Amino acid sequence: MYPVTLNVTGRRCLVVGGGWVALRKVEGLIAEGAQVTVVTPEAVGPLAILQKNQAITLEKRAYRPGEAAAFSLVFAATDDREVNRRVSEDAASAGVWVNVADDPALCTFHLPARVRRGSLQLSIASAGESPFVVRRLRAFLERRFGPEWTAWIEAAGRFRGAVRALGLPRDEMERRYDLFFDSTVDTRQIRARVPAAEELARWLSPDPEKPGTGRAENGKGSQVGVASPDGARGRAGLVSLVGGGPGDAGLLTLRGRQRLMSAGAVVYDRLAATALPCDLPANVGLHCVGKEAGHHPVPQEEINALLVRLAREGKRVVRLKGGDPYVFGRGGEEAEALAAAGVLFEVVPGVTSGIAVPAYAGVPPTHRQEAVQVTLLTAHESKKVEGPQVRWDLLAADPHATLVGYMGVTSLPHAVERLIAAGMNRLTPAAVVERGTTSAQRVIRSTLAELPAAVERASIEPPALFIIGTVVRHADTLDWFGKRPLSGERLVIASPGGDLGAELDMCGAEVVEVPLPVTPAARVVLGALPLTGCVLRSPEEADALDEERDGPGWDSSKVVAWCLRPAAAERARFLGWRNVVHLPDETPGAVIRAMVRG
Ligand code: SAH
Repeated sequence: MYPVTLNVTGRRCLVVGGGWVALRKVEGLIAEGAQVTVVTPEAVGPLAILQKNQAITLEKRAYRPGEAAAFSLVFAATDDREVNRRVSEDAASAGVWVNVADDPALCTFHLPARVRRGSLQLSIASAGESPFVVRRLRAFLERRFGPEWTAWIEAAGRFRGAVRALGLPRDEMERRYDLFFDSTVDTRQIRARVPAAEELARWLSPDPEKPGTGRAENGKGSQVGVASPDGARGRAGLVSLVGGGPGDAGLLTLRGRQRLMSAGAVVYDRLAATALPCDLPANVGLHCVGKEAGHHPVPQEEINALLVRLAREGKRVVRLKGGDPYVFGRGGEEAEALAAAGVLFEVVPGVTSGIAVPAYAGVPPTHRQEAVQVTLLTAHESKKVEGPQVRWDLLAADPHATLVGYMGVTSLPHAVERLIAAGMNRLTPAAVVERGTTSAQRVIRSTLAELPAAVERASIEPPALFIIGTVVRHADTLDWFGKRPLSGERLVIASPGGDLGAELDMCGAEVVEVPLPVTPAARVVLGALPLTGCVLRSPEEADALDEERDGPGWDSSKVVAWCLRPAAAERARFLGWRNVVHLPDETPGAVIRAMVRG
């Protein structure tokens, strides 16, 4: 079968038959401007009305042998097989295309089922062999392609006209069509949007990938000297050294988020991965420069060079670091390198783990009458023979101080030994917090002397920090974080998470709200820590998130699919998800109670 779409405007078409099947063919033909003659001894009411309105010529009589030959296209839809055969033979011998309803053997063409959105037509056909499949697929596509595709296809047609008028070379034209399509169509969700006038103007401008150019022509675009997100020749780049906070995505600052959302490139440490906004636009360049305790996959000099290079391309660059960039983050060195290269930079401080993590572990670092100073230190350096050393002797002498040690897992035994040797009380309360402020937070508490052994028994791994001082005792009463009903849960929910997402967060779950289709940034966030559950509110969400199940944070044997609709649960089971739970009561309260029960 060879698919074609016919222009039937003004063409003479014959429909033999006057029932409901015939009527459907007639309506399809007149909608396309065909000149329709209906031959039938008896006709259903709507055909008579069409005749009255002069939309068709209705001849109330029997089919006359041979008359099919005078038409361009012929349809037979009578309930008399003999008449149908006659019409078919007449047409075929005259070289006229003929379709006989429900009789593929008598057809020289079939009609595909179609979904129509303006000039966009999706046709489905099975060469007449499995009409039941065709009907179901059509119904499915009819549901999936929303009405917005009509306006979209019109915009696409206008855009094509405008691109062609530019007289560009082929590959330049294709590049603009790509921009139009990729920016307006969500292929996973099968959704489309009509682009804004500024976007269209930009895609038609000489430098279509550069935001702002569409309006720059009338004097409003970026000015020279101001960095543009994507970069452009002749513009100065800007590097923002942004502190991403200690792990809880909610602890990123407003300015940090603002800089990220308008960045052209983001260079991030693994420690900062959970701070990446899941809704970071998919076209922002993401550079992971690793940096985990013990191994530095990308050497510091290379990171510096990368920042300088990106900035020199004129980009707005965000260097995203865990906690605060200037607290044990080597942010100072990066800033020095940028200053030396003459690159504009700024610092957006972050919530440092040394202050936030104690808070999430129930420890106020200062407390009236108990601790009047806090020392942020790294024991890491003290293992090295050369270089500046922590003065353990001075720290050990002050019982009214709190010590917070970064990069503390491997150097803890050494630090404790030095403090005790310098006279610190062996019974001083102490704690180690692993992955503080996240769903994976673990807190180990003991006396100073016993802390290294306790940490070893619990197999604590970086990132972790230690807290030493009498204030640690307050964790007995101030542990708010671990006590919330959903603490320890890390849940994925499609964006917008709505009231349910907000409630889950309030109840202590770490909620990862991912846009669909899933963005590259969301993928980084999903993979940063183990997930415990996934909220599915529709079969479509199940489909979209199913593709993420191979990701690093996703252990299918552990992740529970909390399904709010029977159809979502059905779809998840069909896709092979394990641990599918259907929640018949969809109110946030009931959902949370079900999750707490497990
Ligand atoms: N600039 C960062 C620190 C970078 S050094 C900041 O201001 O927080 C890395 C160390 O920070 C880790 O080894 C660990 O000691 C500490 N750290 C960072 N995030 C942490 C977290 N979520 N929980 C516990 N310690 C953390």
